[in-house]
Amino acid sequence: MEKKRTATAPPADGAALRYVTLKVRLYPTAEQAALFEKTFGCCRYIWNRMLADQQRFYIETGAHFIPTPAKYKKEAPFLKEVDNQALIQEHNRLSQAFRMFFKSPGSFGHPNFKRKKDGRDSFTACNREFQSGPTVYTTRSGIRMTKAGIVPAKFHRRPQNGWRLKRITVEKTPTGKYFCYILYACEVKGPEPVIPTAETTVGLKYSVSHFYVADSGAMADPPHWLGKSQEKLAKIQQQLSRMQPGSRNYRRAVQKYRLLHEHIANQRRDFIHKESSRIAKDWDAVCMRADNLEEMIGGLPHGGSPGLGHGMFRECLRYKLERQGKQLILIDRYTPTTRTCSTCGQVREAVHYREKTWRCPECGAVHRREINAAKNIKTQGLAWFFRNGEQPESA
Ligand SMILES: [Zn+2]
Repeated sequence: MEKKRTATAPPADGAALRYVTLKVRLYPTAEQAALFEKTFGCCRYIWNRMLADQQRFYIETGAHFIPTPAKYKKEAPFLKEVDNQALIQEHNRLSQAFRMFFKSPGSFGHPNFKRKKDGRDSFTACNREFQSGPTVYTTRSGIRMTKAGIVPAKFHRRPQNGWRLKRITVEKTPTGKYFCYILYACEVKGPEPVIPTAETTVGLKYSVSHFYVADSGAMADPPHWLGKSQEKLAKIQQQLSRMQPGSRNYRRAVQKYRLLHEHIANQRRDFIHKESSRIAKDWDAVCMRADNLEEMIGGLPHGGSPGLGHGMFRECLRYKLERQGKQLILIDRYTPTTRTCSTCGQVREAVHYREKTWRCPECGAVHRREINAAKNIKTQGLAWFFRNGEQPESA
């Protein structure tokens, strides 16, 4: 019994106000349930009275005006028995309903009178912070409300430190269950979103030999030592296959293999962190294809090879961009980026991976295979972004 709803308010100084709603089941005592019924009734009553007076006033004077709940208390003293905050909320809601109606009558319609049989029994009350403490707060086993006192409740999730209780809505379902929606405000620190442009966006194509190739032609050739270490690793593997398992030499070689393996993994991690930091600093958005990276390394020599690290590279890029409010834009992994001409958009049947360069039969442009693909990834990625299209799942 838990529901989370979030909305983001305009950020101030890099901090945004977010709202979180917790839904909890209430188990009111008979007395509290009777008070709830009375409150639902009073809310309907006050809504209808305010609406009737607004209409009368509008007909008589042509002006929009909604009297406050206080006006009705003398002639309807039972209103004093319920939480005044709930009545104030009805006033706020009716005012809001009219604001929406005046702004866009077609979409919202004129506020209507409420009848009991129309369904939803509910009331909303704001928390007020007094010097003596708040009017609404949660306890270990319930929610403290004005007039009702502590209403027993079952929490499946607890508010976190720093959440400020703003208001509660108590609702009775048609089956007679009571729920409370508790709205909290919490401040989250987040960066201002950076809107990318074509000039500040880079397209990257994964590459086995160059690690990646950018649409500008830049490449991140994995450092020399990485290849050297990998050669060594392959050599030890070969030696191992010729040795007697369990022998002293064998055990020694296994240990050497493990150490080298670890060393390569460290070097690679270093390389990936440096590369991703540099790119995330230099660019406002990075476009990549959502390739299944496990498939990509499937055809390479394995035997415990730490892999190329493209998956780690992508995740590093993602969080390093995100914490600056920047974008990692993934395009669908089935987009034919290699066979499409980045100059005219013509899609070829196939481009063999041995074809380092090719000439477009349509427009005559000569392409370097990987750079052309990176250009297409960038174009497609920016198109996704500005269409606000759904981002494909990254494999
Ligand atoms: Zn072309």
